[in-house]
Amino acid sequence: MGLSDRRVYLDHSATTPVHPQVVESMAPYWSERFGNAASPHAFGQAAANGLEQARRAAADVLGCHPAEIVFTGSGTEAVNLALRGAAWAARQTGRGNHIVTTPVEHHAVASTVDQLRDLQGFEVTRVPVDEYGHVDPDDLASAIRSDTILVSVMAANNEVGTVQRVFRIGQVCRERGVLFHTDAVQAAGRIPLELDDTNVDLLALSAHKFYGPKGIGLLYVRRGVPLVPVITGGDHERGRRPGTVNVAGAVGLAAALRLVEEERVAECARLRRLRDRLIKGVIASIPDSRLTGHPVHRLSNHASFVFRGVEGRSIVLGLDLEGIAASSGAACAEGEPEPSPVLAAMGFSQDWGIGSLRFALGHANDEEDVAHVLDVLPGIVARLRAGG
Ligand code: PLP
Repeated sequence: MGLSDRRVYLDHSATTPVHPQVVESMAPYWSERFGNAASPHAFGQAAANGLEQARRAAADVLGCHPAEIVFTGSGTEAVNLALRGAAWAARQTGRGNHIVTTPVEHHAVASTVDQLRDLQGFEVTRVPVDEYGHVDPDDLASAIRSDTILVSVMAANNEVGTVQRVFRIGQVCRERGVLFHTDAVQAAGRIPLELDDTNVDLLALSAHKFYGPKGIGLLYVRRGVPLVPVITGGDHERGRRPGTVNVAGAVGLAAALRLVEEERVAECARLRRLRDRLIKGVIASIPDSRLTGHPVHRLSNHASFVFRGVEGRSIVLGLDLEGIAASSGAACAEGEPEPSPVLAAMGFSQDWGIGSLRFALGHANDEEDVAHVLDVLPGIVARLRAGG
């Protein structure tokens, strides 16, 4: 242990602890209901029943049909299935070759569209964002061409917390007859995900971001949306995601999704108060500090900053010695710190962009945790600036 005995976890955008009720819901599927959900015997059918119950429960929360849900091995895999699956299906029918996205997407989207471009000849347009990381739906509309097959815009940004206007973007895509995928991995439990009310065609989630287990994700695929499977094999998940299904994981994902949705309004209000206190305190007490992301349209649990001339990674290590877990989005190329592609796209220069720091609040956090951060962070930044 470092300088402090207090342990404060403020990295809930990276991952969350599994809720005890979620663990409880999963346990039978590791023991007495261990069967393969594809087996016709009683052991298999007990697992299959659990799986279908989980699918119905998740569909109920999301406002969609159970058949529109595909369980995957992670959020990254759900995103890959959405993008590759839709792009390959479009290619099969000669519908077009052009994908529209943004420069602030998570690697799951960014690397996948880059590979579709570099290895398979798809064309990719990244619509610029403003200083808050917002994409303008009108700019997006202008980027759509007659050969555009897919638009992918994240619901909420992992690094700077900005919430995009997904409802309006979906409308634009629907009017143009283009499929719309949203990476909602950071959004579950934080913004409403009512699919019957939106024009989203494909939506990716990951259980470990909302108090569910790791190794299970979900892709919502609107009925009728053509998708080529990315993994080939058997006919699990209606042929869309072959591989023996992680039933315990699916049960845990559904239980966690229900829990975070039930508590969403109250918990978001609680965390928003803590977040705002943290933001105000940091900006007031540390010179040359700025909030990153949108001041209002941002995740209720998310506070992210840049500190001029200090490396975010060093701040993270300094905080760790004080028992505080946070994260930094800055990248490191050949030893030289650089702003992350997200901050660079938002216009941050090198001296500001290297100093990125993210706090993401969750269930266990309270006023004292915020006070502890405000107690130690100004000294850490000052020491680093002084070269210590
Ligand atoms: N998309 C976003 C916005 C994320 O924040 C993450 C994880 O950090 C992912 C996708 C990938 O999810 P997973 O960790 O389940 O692969």
